[in-house]
Amino acid sequence: MSPRRLVVVGAGITGLAAAFEWHRRRPDDEVVVLEAGDRIGGKLDRVELAGHWYDTGPEAMLARVPEAVQLVERLGLADRLVAPATTQAAVVLPDGRHPLPAGTVLGVPASAEGLDGVLTPDGVARVAAEADLPPLTLDGDLSSHDVAVGALLRARLGDEVVDRLVEPLLGGVYAGRADELSLAATMPQLAAHLPTAGSVLGAAAAARDAGARSRFDAGSPVFVTVAEGIGSLPAALVAASGAEVRLRTPAHGLVRTPSGFELSVGRANVPERLSADAVLVTAPAPKAARLLAGVAPGAVEPLQGIPYASMAVVAMAFPAQEVAAGSGLLVPPVTGRLVKGVTVSSRKWPHLDGGHLLVRSSVGRFRDEHQLQRDDDDLAAAVVADVADLLQLSRPEPVATRVVRWGGGLPQYLVGHEERVDAVRAAVSAVPGLAVAGAAFRGVGVPACIRDAYAAVDALL
Ligand SMILES: Cc1cc2nc3c(=O)[nH]c(=O)nc-3n(C[C@H](O)[C@H](O)[C@H](O)COP(=O)(O)OP(=O)(O)OC[C@H]3O[C@@H](n4cnc5c(N)ncnc54)[C@H](O)[C@@H]3O)c2cc1C
Repeated sequence: MSPRRLVVVGAGITGLAAAFEWHRRRPDDEVVVLEAGDRIGGKLDRVELAGHWYDTGPEAMLARVPEAVQLVERLGLADRLVAPATTQAAVVLPDGRHPLPAGTVLGVPASAEGLDGVLTPDGVARVAAEADLPPLTLDGDLSSHDVAVGALLRARLGDEVVDRLVEPLLGGVYAGRADELSLAATMPQLAAHLPTAGSVLGAAAAARDAGARSRFDAGSPVFVTVAEGIGSLPAALVAASGAEVRLRTPAHGLVRTPSGFELSVGRANVPERLSADAVLVTAPAPKAARLLAGVAPGAVEPLQGIPYASMAVVAMAFPAQEVAAGSGLLVPPVTGRLVKGVTVSSRKWPHLDGGHLLVRSSVGRFRDEHQLQRDDDDLAAAVVADVADLLQLSRPEPVATRVVRWGGGLPQYLVGHEERVDAVRAAVSAVPGLAVAGAAFRGVGVPACIRDAYAAVDALL
């Protein structure tokens, strides 16, 4: 095959991983990455905080989905991978702080054991009483294709499991709400086991055991990070991929030509034309919808059905001090608190230990983003006060704070998400040379985005 030009829209982890993989497989091809913003990385970003590189986007990568670890290894950075010193987290509830029970699937317990404290005695009894409910069947409760996580769990295990355990965990991953998020899309392992198990507890036990068995190395950590920050990966990917990255160059339009595609890029009033043999769109769903309207109109409506939650991350450095916390705290809406969670980074990650107390906290959930209207100083002060109280800090004056805003930070996998994704993929794959990938589709985590990038490269090649 003669050399070809791939144009990737978006220089987030998905676009850059795709550029890297394409270059690895077809080193003679030209890869151009268009980025609307003025820096590479998309949601991957880091700041300098009290002498450390500190992630303000993703800060931990799931190692069980191996693509991220493998990519770091391929970049020659295996020795920069760091495992957590502790993963012991607690959940903050109106009646105090409780250790997160072990062995749950995103907060869904496999039995009533170990839930005392985090649930009230009535709540624990309600979980145990699932055994008395009629079994879930494919022609009964599971007959509709998808259901909200909250709807199923409230009916089977009671409200407390949702409000006190599942909501904080889903809030951490999606900044979303259990009553709206899709069971099939956010808990696929649990959903897969429901018909055979006949109960939520049984399905959670089966999913947990299958997860433990499939761990590629039983001794390996579940999460990892990178010593210079996950935010250091975009530059390493660009350097290794040989791709030409054009910053401040949004793609506005995409049309088919007899030989492939033509994109209009750059300034909207004087756009430049760029031809491509293949196009991979990794922009978030609303932007992708606009771009695909002309070439894959069937993708537009399902893409518009994927909303986003906005959030702000506040990074804080406090004077060194003891804190009575493990890796962090989950803070569900039932507490009425501003922050959604607290990561005690200098306890969680050994390379950040040994100086200041480094903490990050996030604010903002889907449909609950009014707190983000505050200006940076006000938001930082309110978050610092919340964190100082939650961690009972003896020296609560920070030496540094950084506020990073993520407008449209995380896509929401609402009920029916899988069908929307199938519809997008069907419309796009009908156009030879065109693909979409990224956080909007089959996993918001960095490893899932990399996996999706590889799948798109496979499809295009
Ligand atoms: C605060 C926060 C914390 C997170 N924490 C974790 C974590 O700990 N672990 C984890 O695994 N995941 C985490 N995630 C999720 C993960 O970081 C993201 O889902 C992932 O990085 C998204 O990558 P992407 O490439 O699909 O999209 P993006 O990073 O959004 O990249 C898309 C790029 O496309 C560009 N673009 C948009 N429109 C156009 C256009 N028309 N033309 C050209 N370019 C365009 C955008 O500017 C952007 O750079 C977190 C996310 C956030 C926001």
